[in-house]
Amino acid sequence: MTKKEEPPLSRVPRAVRVASLLSEGEELSGDDQEDEDEDDHAYEGVPNGGWHTSSLSLSLPSTIAAPHPMDGPPGGSTPVTPVIKAGWLDKNPPQGSYIYQKRWVRLDADHLRYFDSNKDAYSKRFISVACISRVAAIGDQKFEVITNNRTFAFRAESDVERKEWMQALQQAMAEQRARARLSSAYLLGVPGSEQPDRAGSLELRGFKNKLYVAVVGDKVQLYKNLEEYHLGIGITFIDMSVGNVKEVDRRSFDLTTPYRIFSFSADSELEKEQWLEAMQGAVAEALSTSEVAERVWAAAPNRFCADCGAPQPDWASINLCVVICKRCAGEHRGLGAGVSKVRSLKMDRKVWTETLIELFLQLGNGAGNRFWAANVPPSEALQPSSSPSTRRCHLEAKYREGKYRRYHPLFGNQEELDKALCAAVTTTDLAETQALLGCGAGISCFSGDPEAPTPLALAEQAGQTLQMEFLRNNRTTEVPRLDSMKPLEKHYSVILPTVSHSGFLYKTASAGKLLQDRRAREEFSRRWCVLSDGVLSYYENERAVTPNGEIRASEIVCLAVPLPDTHGFEHTFEVYTEGERLYLFGLESMEQAHEWVKCIAKAFVPPLAEDLLARDFERLGRLPYKAGLSLQRAQEGWFSLSGSELRAVFPEGPCEEPLQLRKLQELSIQGDSENQVLVLVERRRTLYIQGERRLDFMGWLGAIQKAAASMGDTLSEQQLGDSDIPVIVYRCVDYITQCGLTSEGIYRKCGQTSKTQRLLESLRQDARSVHLKEGEQHVDDVSSALKRFLRDLPDGLFTRAQRLAWLEASEIEDEEEKVSRYRELLVRLPPVNRATVKALISHLYCVQCFSDTNQMNVHNLAIVFGPTLFQTDGQDYKAGRVVEDLINHYVVVFSVDEEELRKQREEITAIVKMRVAGTASGTQHAGDFICTVYLEEKKAETEQHVKIPASMTAEELTLEILDRRNVGIREKDYWTCFEVNEREEAERPLHFAEKVLPILHGLGTDSHLVVKKHQAMEAMLLYLASRVSDTKHGMMKFREDRSLLGLGLPSGGFHDRYFILNSSCLRLYKEVRSQRPWSGAPETSHRPEKEWPVKSLRVYLGVKKKLRPPTCWGFTVVHETEKHEKQQWYLCCDTQMELREWFATFLFVQHDGLVWPSEPSRVSRAVPEVRLGSVSLIPLRGSENEMRRSVAAFTADPLSLLRNV
Ligand SMILES: [Zn+2]
Repeated sequence: MTKKEEPPLSRVPRAVRVASLLSEGEELSGDDQEDEDEDDHAYEGVPNGGWHTSSLSLSLPSTIAAPHPMDGPPGGSTPVTPVIKAGWLDKNPPQGSYIYQKRWVRLDADHLRYFDSNKDAYSKRFISVACISRVAAIGDQKFEVITNNRTFAFRAESDVERKEWMQALQQAMAEQRARARLSSAYLLGVPGSEQPDRAGSLELRGFKNKLYVAVVGDKVQLYKNLEEYHLGIGITFIDMSVGNVKEVDRRSFDLTTPYRIFSFSADSELEKEQWLEAMQGAVAEALSTSEVAERVWAAAPNRFCADCGAPQPDWASINLCVVICKRCAGEHRGLGAGVSKVRSLKMDRKVWTETLIELFLQLGNGAGNRFWAANVPPSEALQPSSSPSTRRCHLEAKYREGKYRRYHPLFGNQEELDKALCAAVTTTDLAETQALLGCGAGISCFSGDPEAPTPLALAEQAGQTLQMEFLRNNRTTEVPRLDSMKPLEKHYSVILPTVSHSGFLYKTASAGKLLQDRRAREEFSRRWCVLSDGVLSYYENERAVTPNGEIRASEIVCLAVPLPDTHGFEHTFEVYTEGERLYLFGLESMEQAHEWVKCIAKAFVPPLAEDLLARDFERLGRLPYKAGLSLQRAQEGWFSLSGSELRAVFPEGPCEEPLQLRKLQELSIQGDSENQVLVLVERRRTLYIQGERRLDFMGWLGAIQKAAASMGDTLSEQQLGDSDIPVIVYRCVDYITQCGLTSEGIYRKCGQTSKTQRLLESLRQDARSVHLKEGEQHVDDVSSALKRFLRDLPDGLFTRAQRLAWLEASEIEDEEEKVSRYRELLVRLPPVNRATVKALISHLYCVQCFSDTNQMNVHNLAIVFGPTLFQTDGQDYKAGRVVEDLINHYVVVFSVDEEELRKQREEITAIVKMRVAGTASGTQHAGDFICTVYLEEKKAETEQHVKIPASMTAEELTLEILDRRNVGIREKDYWTCFEVNEREEAERPLHFAEKVLPILHGLGTDSHLVVKKHQAMEAMLLYLASRVSDTKHGMMKFREDRSLLGLGLPSGGFHDRYFILNSSCLRLYKEVRSQRPWSGAPETSHRPEKEWPVKSLRVYLGVKKKLRPPTCWGFTVVHETEKHEKQQWYLCCDTQMELREWFATFLFVQHDGLVWPSEPSRVSRAVPEVRLGSVSLIPLRGSENEMRRSVAAFTADPLSLLRNV
């Protein structure tokens, strides 16, 4: 049905306030709404008050306030759909009125829009061109735009004008249809609009009724209601390239644009979060660059998703060489990198080399689908609107199984396939290579030619760069197989072993959170329970026919057995389901409880993980995890916890050794409260358990934390570190080694009782999480805590049983005999005691090496430690003698080999040197940490796991990695360790003397360390050597990240600012008042707008693309305040040299002139002492005195320096 649109009488806006670019953040008036909301066209008049900004042009900068401001890109740089035609038209008067309304009407390829005026940013109405069915001329220079159920009439100034409008509209419609046909012809896709990322009702301030809002790509569209959304007739849409979204309160959020603030309210907090996320996604999308996409789309088939046909796909699988939409990309990712390597055309810009783009133009969706989708039955084809599960099935079949592929004639004949591949790669026939690889040809088969043994080498020999690129991207691609191993989730649908069990159980009402308190007996009700056919049903009684409820075994994610007597029933067990419910069952008899637990476990654990059932467990279930080399995606694994052992069965990879939770090096929770990740680090393994489901994750978390804690007071019940030493001992010893070796009277002096006690208490509770920091703990408190711990050990370090034997041994007169007796006794100690004695004596051996400064020679130490370790009153010296003997004969008694001793000495030397040099970081954590470091770039093959002692410097780490990889250092190879922040797209070359450990602790999950050559170092050193001044000043483009959450949402652009960097601070000046011709230094306004202490800045090379840096020579400056708040700025230089000069100056002032270690240390690094001594104290240029003088000069006010020029 078609009806005329009837706008209400045009009325004068009642409240209009101006929002200008300059007063961003000021909200437009909450306009008065019309009352006739029942009227179909109530919204018509609203924008008047809403976003008509009549005097907008007055406050806009002149560049933007052009005659038709909105006909050009509003922000000046975002590409906007070009306007086909724009001009003033009269819109037909509302019923009962004869006054035509003047409207500024604008047509682009997708929309016809009309505005109150040509200065308005937001339309009163838009009509999707795709929904226009006809344009017809009616009398009186009028014409009608007819859609399925509504007609809009306009009157032009003249017949010529009308004709132009009608032609423009008809042409736009024709083009729209052609595009739709192309889309539907191509892979059965549905023509028309993009699927929204989110759509639904929202309140918008100023509107009486809720609007229907859709987030589509980089736009937020506003519709009056759902019906109009379907009709393609909306109010307006907001281009998110100028949008900024921020939370206001629990349910509200603002979408701010330079022209207006839209204040939305959602129905719930959760919905608000989802809207925020969707709109932030739209901002990201708007700010991403489509340069690569435009180029890849140059090949027509690439303009539609290779899988579902959705238009403008901006993702790609770089090994399959197909362009896909965001939705399909998500499912591709789920296939694993072995099947599809997913990258964004818009965001992963670095990936898109010229070669790869060319490959996509040559192969791309055309060739890709001729091979992969040669036989898709129409019933199995995807549509842009297909559901995620349909998509997943289709993509599994298409790429993992190769179900629809065109079989190569040589299929099945491996030898011939390989031969054909070797031939194909030397030609330009990429489609053939694709078909051969997809049909099983071996990518690394032997070509028969030793000169060029692999297809890749052959391609290289033949100069086929595209073939090489294709082969490289498919190096690890799995060959599709119909019988291929399905991902784990498929296992759940496998019919589980039929287990049957029945009996009475006592059950409580299911809970949505963990059970914190004891459940009284009365809270349980007796239920007849039957486990059969994979369902646990509970009935009112054994005669009842219909169950009260049931739990499907496939929904069970975890089964836990609380300690006896936790609840009103002696024996209980908990069942957690996927739907985040927790059921508690109880029983009197242990045997019965045990039997039920066993049966339920059997019913929900797949055969894959049945090994876990062989042992008793306190907790059993499945959890998403990441581990080993497959960190890209989480998989679901099966876990069981018994005692302090965590067993795991992973769908891929070899059988895992159980994790000894008490021996973990790290147990921490990362991520935010919504997205928690439990990180478990063992000696060589790191396991990430993800908290996707909150309830069972919290259960696991508590259980694992408890299991990882110390169990009791004896040594072996403590949390254990590397080599079986209790973490508590290790922490203290390490701290004293780091900070107390030169402290006078160490171990003899007592700490403050209260502090010592508090420290010991927290260490006993969870030593692993205690990080002793210099400045926070006094060494004497730590040493006292250690002594107290050892003295209080119930069994003593030397055990009650053997204590006497040790004391007796000390009386043996023959020195040699005595030592061998000690050795004998040592072997008899329990392993943890033995390891601890050794660690402790080794430590005391170090301490006495510094007796010159700490006054603690062997004898003094023995006086202190004898009674402590043997728990005596110190009256007789036998105990002391044992300690004295052990220290004196340390090497022999403990069979310490040369290498060990040398390492120990090195470590001490390094520590002392650094302390003397005063470079010991103020926030040093004790304890080693295993860290993953990459060589040259981040990928599985370049991974190295390195133990990072607290004393390790960036240079030592660099050298260690190079050593391990056997990489020689050539002259002018500036190998450096970089901290790479993937999220910020920035990296920071670590200073060679920087301690690695504190950096590791601060490293987020999206950061990693890479050792590679510092390409700019030589240029920087040359610059530093040749410059005249030690300060640097000049203009840079500056942008502040005002988002406190670090979401990196845009808040304004880059602006020119004047900077001065001296040895103490970086200063920013807003204005440069005048130029002094005789000095070259511009005079700045006297007070800097901002000032930051230079030593607390971290300078990263690079600025994330999302922020649209004006040049590619940018850096990101992070400032952490005393309160650990992070602030961030972005600076851009005009040239690479400028960037290097600034960066070099930063390095110079931050590290007191020591930018690069002096050469000899690197060259002679084979000699260990020198290697550790490479932390050079000699400044790069000049003597130390010169250095100090120049530092002194730095500290002067740069302005006064400038004035003296
Ligand atoms: Zn798709």
